[in-house]
Amino acid sequence: MTVPHSPGVAYIGLGSNLDDPRRQVTQALAELGGMPASRLLASSSLYRTPPMGPPGQPDYINAVAQIETALSPHALLDALQAIERAHDRVRTVRWGPRTLDLDLLLYDQQEIADERLCVPHPGLTERAFVVLPLLEIAPTLRVPGFGALAERGAQLDSHGIHRL
Ligand code: ATP
Ligand code: MG
Ligand code: MG
Repeated sequence: MTVPHSPGVAYIGLGSNLDDPRRQVTQALAELGGMPASRLLASSSLYRTPPMGPPGQPDYINAVAQIETALSPHALLDALQAIERAHDRVRTVRWGPRTLDLDLLLYDQQEIADERLCVPHPGLTERAFVVLPLLEIAPTLRVPGFGALAERGAQLDSHGIHRL
């Protein structure tokens, strides 16, 4: 099943804007802690955020979770996609509305770039709806290839983002 892997700390970005987004995200936070060889260490508040993709979609609920996991980064991506599927995630248009998006933001200080997985997540430092909840639970976080994240929260446009 899973290749043995020494435990690492990973950050997951959660987002939903369909079918009761608060419930989708709250339930997914619990499910992250239920993944094999994994436990939830911390989770941010929920944030209501304007949509990034095609206009006319409902607002999003976003959050970030910190987990400890013995899953490898690729096995973790498999587990995240299984949770997305269990939430009836359907992929249609890029950045279109979805019941649940689970993005692997960071895995320790690893840098990965292959056809399935890019870590740190490429959008991480550009998206206020990721940076704000991330800084809430990890104020001193460093991002490989970027550095300390602390200043970034104030630099990004956080217009319309509400911590719930
Ligand atoms: P974005 O990644 O810009 O937030 P998205 O979350 O809407 O967009 P998805 O449709 O969820 O994109 O994922 C598309 C593909 O991205 C997945 O099939 C997955 O293989 C790949 N991917 C690459 N890096 C990551 C990562 N760090 N976390 C999650 N998926 C990733
Ligand atoms: Mg995403
Ligand atoms: Mg995604």
